[in-house]
Amino acid sequence: LLTVEGLWKSYHGHAVLRGIDLEVRPHEVVCLVGASGSGKSTLLRCVNLLETVDDGAIHLDGRDITDVRVDPDAVRKRMGVVFQAFNLFPHMTVLDNITLAPRKVHGTGRREAEQQALELLERFGLADKAKAYPDRLSGGQQQRVAIIRALAVRPLLMLLDEVTSALDPALVAEVLGVIRELKGSGMTMILTTHEMGFCREIADTVCFLDNGVLLEKAPPEEFFTDPKEPRTRQFLRSVL
Ligand code: ATP
Ligand code: MG
Repeated sequence: LLTVEGLWKSYHGHAVLRGIDLEVRPHEVVCLVGASGSGKSTLLRCVNLLETVDDGAIHLDGRDITDVRVDPDAVRKRMGVVFQAFNLFPHMTVLDNITLAPRKVHGTGRREAEQQALELLERFGLADKAKAYPDRLSGGQQQRVAIIRALAVRPLLMLLDEVTSALDPALVAEVLGVIRELKGSGMTMILTTHEMGFCREIADTVCFLDNGVLLEKAPPEEFFTDPKEPRTRQFLRSVL
């Protein structure tokens, strides 16, 4: 579904991604781990075309999306993106937050968009919050709404960057529950996390980024019990 080939990205002459190769199959859940500053968020931003890349290619559904002739907005429409800070619009209700992109970007009618939004809210246990404003919701509820909002455009692929790291531990579980349910529904996802327990449970493939290099890639059972690279072992010792 997504293929990243030889991706390089520098900021001010400093290479942050150094020749990343990554393949994501349909329904696969890929978890990016690595120390702070290793390039995880930058990789997600490149995939979402929020950054221009210096070299390499990114194919989505067979098409090179780094091609200058590709319309970045058309590509972004097909991805659902959720970042650490829940960026809900504070002056809009939950329902309006969720229906905004389907209506404005995809041209879905109000009734259909609201119907879909209510179904999603129902599915994730938030039906009673449809008319609430974000500041009336807990952090965990806000983040679940942010995920639902990303889902509302029926994305091909979800990109989730540290979606639990701004939350109190007590609220993390409910957001993880949503991601687990998404995996169960077959959603293809690339996510970054500092929570190794969750990574181990949810990932089909774990990718270890070390200083902009994708150093090791393995199924979680293997990654956590039998890492091949000394740098990976060192990282795991520091976080487990
Ligand atoms: P964390 O686990 O802390 O989220 P990360 O793996 O997501 O870290 P990135 O945010 O991708 O790391 O950052 C990788 C490197 O790129 C860091 O050294 C960072 O300082 C640098 N960087 C990221 N964004 C920019 C930017 N817009 N301008 C300059 N440097 C940047
Ligand atoms: Mg990051």
